[in-house]
Formats: sequence, structure tokens, C-alpha cells
Amino acid sequence: MKKVSVECQNIRLSYGATEVLKDINLRIEPGEFFALLGPSGSGKSTLLRLIAGFNRHNAGRLLVDGRDISAVPAHKRNIGMVFQSYALWPHMTVWDNVAFGLVERRLPSAEIKERVASVLALVGLSDYAKRRPNELSGGQQQRVALARTIVIEPQVLLLDEPLSNLDKNLRVQMRQELLSLQRRLGITTIFVTHDQEEAMTTADRMAVLDQGVVQQVGRPSELYDFPCNRFVANFVGTMN
Ligand code: ADP
Ligand code: MG
Repeated sequence: MKKVSVECQNIRLSYGATEVLKDINLRIEPGEFFALLGPSGSGKSTLLRLIAGFNRHNAGRLLVDGRDISAVPAHKRNIGMVFQSYALWPHMTVWDNVAFGLVERRLPSAEIKERVASVLALVGLSDYAKRRPNELSGGQQQRVALARTIVIEPQVLLLDEPLSNLDKNLRVQMRQELLSLQRRLGITTIFVTHDQEEAMTTADRMAVLDQGVVQQVGRPSELYDFPCNRFVANFVGTMN
């Protein structure tokens, strides 16, 4: 699969009179694992939803692979998003949850079978295909949400605080799983988190967002060693 870049150029978004994203400029390189770090309310989810096509920006350009996709509707963007809440279908089995997007796209059933089986194997859930979400642990539900998204073979993977519902130990384990899966697939990934340590230990590069403004972009070590302002210094420096 082709690795693509994602670029935000002078992006602005308001809810009513409140500007939530203020002149966002970011370039995520093809195949990169990019973390978007910021406190609650800083605009992280709004920016992800905008890239996915669920929010429209008021100004600026959104480029994927160099092409402006601002006018392309969400379902045609080839971008996968994992929500913080997972949003699994409670009445469907793991298998049906993962197959859903492929059925919707009317793929041949043999191909659906093959792709679902291979993705379930990839996330280590082959033995859980017949379970329903409420019969799974939090970590397993998280893997289903991930499987359901990557089975579509998106060019870009957006993860909105995918580990925040898990307890600390599992979070650390899943963080590594997520990263190694991303490395194997090579999908350009934007990982949203409010957890400094999570961003610092996983990201190729990261951006710190505060009040809708990108404060700094760089490798985790650059932000740690050379924070550009007091906010970044305090926020990145506070390991929890
Ligand atoms: P984060 O994900 O970083 O916690 P959000 O992107 O969810 O932040 O929210 C950024 C700001 O936009 C917050 O002040 C939030 O209250 C506001 N906001 C988010 N969604 C909406 C909405 N649908 N309508 C109005 N305001 C919103
Ligand atoms: Mg959020």
C-alpha cells in the first residue's frame, strides 16, 4: 500500500463564535507515527474529526498525498478512525463488527472472510470471533475497534485516545502493540493523547496543542530538551 502524507495548511475551525482551531499548520510524513498531545479541550478530537471528514474547516487546506481533500466526503476519504469510546456494535459478534465495513462496501463474501480472518489473527483475536463486545476485556475491545478500522485498509489511521479507557498496566502493553502493528502496516498514523509519557515513548514526531494553537512540533527528545515556551516545558516535562 502506498504511504501518504497528511498536511494541514492554515486550518481554522469555529463552533459558532468560538474559534477552536487557530491557523493549524502540520505536515505528517508518509508512514509516520505522529502524536498529537494536548490537555483536555485543546482541540485534538476536533482536528482528528476534521481530517476524517466529520468536521468541516472554515479556512485552510487539508492535503492527503498532496491532494486537497477538503471537499471529499468522509466515506470516500480512505481514512480510518478509532474512537475513544470504541463505538462497537453491542449486539454483533466480534466477527460481524470487524466485517461490517466490508459488507457495507459490498465486497465478495470470500474476500470478506479472508480479510476478517487475517486481521483478527493480526490483533490476536482469532479465538474470540464469536463473542460479543460485552464478553471481552477492555484491551480486547480495543483490539476489535482497531481491527474493524484497519480491515478497511485505510491510507491514514486516526486514533483518538485509544488507550484512555484501559488501566495503566494494560495501557503500557497496548501502546507497544499498537506501535508494532503500525510499523508492520506502515500506515501514516495520528495518535491523539493527553498523556505526555504515551506520546514521548511512541511517537516519531509529535505536536503539542493548546487552546487550538500548535505550540511546537518535533521529535519527542527535541520537545523535551528544547521546549519553545513555558507551556510546552511544563506539559512535556510532567511525566505521570
Ligand atoms: P480535546 O479533544 O482536545 O479534548 P475537543 O476537540 O473535543 O478537545 O474540543 C475543543 C473545544 O471545542 C472545547 O472547548 C469543546 O468544548 C469545544 N467543542 C467540541 N465539540 C463541540 C461542538 N460540537 N460544539 C461546540 N463546541 C464544541
Ligand atoms: Mg478529545
